[in-house]
Amino acid sequence: MNDNLLVDSLQQHLEDKRVQKAIEVQSDIRAYLGEFFRKHGFIEVPPVIISPITDPLNHPVLDPSIDYYGMKYGLTKSMIFHKQILAKELGSIFTFSPNIRLETPEKEKTGRHLSEFTQIDVEKRGASREEMMGLVEDLMVGLTQHMNSERASDLKFLRRKLNVPSRPFKKFRFLDAEKEYGKDFESILSGRMKDPFWIIDIPLENREFYDRESDSEPGILEDMDLIYPEGFGEGLSGGEREFLEERIRERIKRKGQSEEQFKWILAYSSKGLAPSAGFGIGIERLTRYICGLQRIEDTHPFPKIPGKLSL
Ligand code: ASP
Ligand code: MG
Repeated sequence: MNDNLLVDSLQQHLEDKRVQKAIEVQSDIRAYLGEFFRKHGFIEVPPVIISPITDPLNHPVLDPSIDYYGMKYGLTKSMIFHKQILAKELGSIFTFSPNIRLETPEKEKTGRHLSEFTQIDVEKRGASREEMMGLVEDLMVGLTQHMNSERASDLKFLRRKLNVPSRPFKKFRFLDAEKEYGKDFESILSGRMKDPFWIIDIPLENREFYDRESDSEPGILEDMDLIYPEGFGEGLSGGEREFLEERIRERIKRKGQSEEQFKWILAYSSKGLAPSAGFGIGIERLTRYICGLQRIEDTHPFPKIPGKLSL
């Protein structure tokens, strides 16, 4: 793309009233989230942008790193390990964490992938998965009510009718859903459901090593994804965590990953990490769902679309 075209299309994007509304709504979503977690006793901590440890993720992304005084640092893909450390030391924490995930260019088609996005990353010492799911359900009910009352004219402008979900949200066990609806169960269910719902008990091979393996069902994790309805797809991942050094070491091995890459988290766990549970909510995906937008780039002033030039 030549320079003028890039600048023209950025200007057009920023002048688009739908984009302006979405950015305004997102500002309110951020305020609501911050207040919600503070009210529930969570401490806001600053994000970490560069570090020798970050989330390995369970799907292929290109892996950018920077030369940090001769050491190799990665750009944060999620603050999972920093969250575990902070949960141990501080208890309940959250952060608005900028993440860089250089998704493969075909992800552009999904309408829900940005290479640079922000997630509110939340972790609580001693919490169970069920406690965290309850918290998310309260959050979603409260947020949709807030949006319907405080942002009614914006939602009307966006032609968005937002349903307030009722609790508890429906839960599907991963393997049951896969058996009933096939490999594509997540998008099939997302397309059919009218309210957000959970996928729980995700098998080990479908997830990163840090989510805790069930004591009663080996190979199944104590974790969850929140899926938005109406085809909006995944909005949150989370779970209980492995916190014992030997179990973390074993899970790294079973994933075929290198201990060297995760030596810092192993070293920290050898001093004792605490049991914790948490989750991360993509802010742009949440905004897309609340606003009912087709494409995630309309939620961001400077969207980084996988594989495309952008400012
Ligand atoms: N680390 C997860 C992610 O970024 C979120 C979480 O498990 O807290 O997808
Ligand atoms: Mg996820």
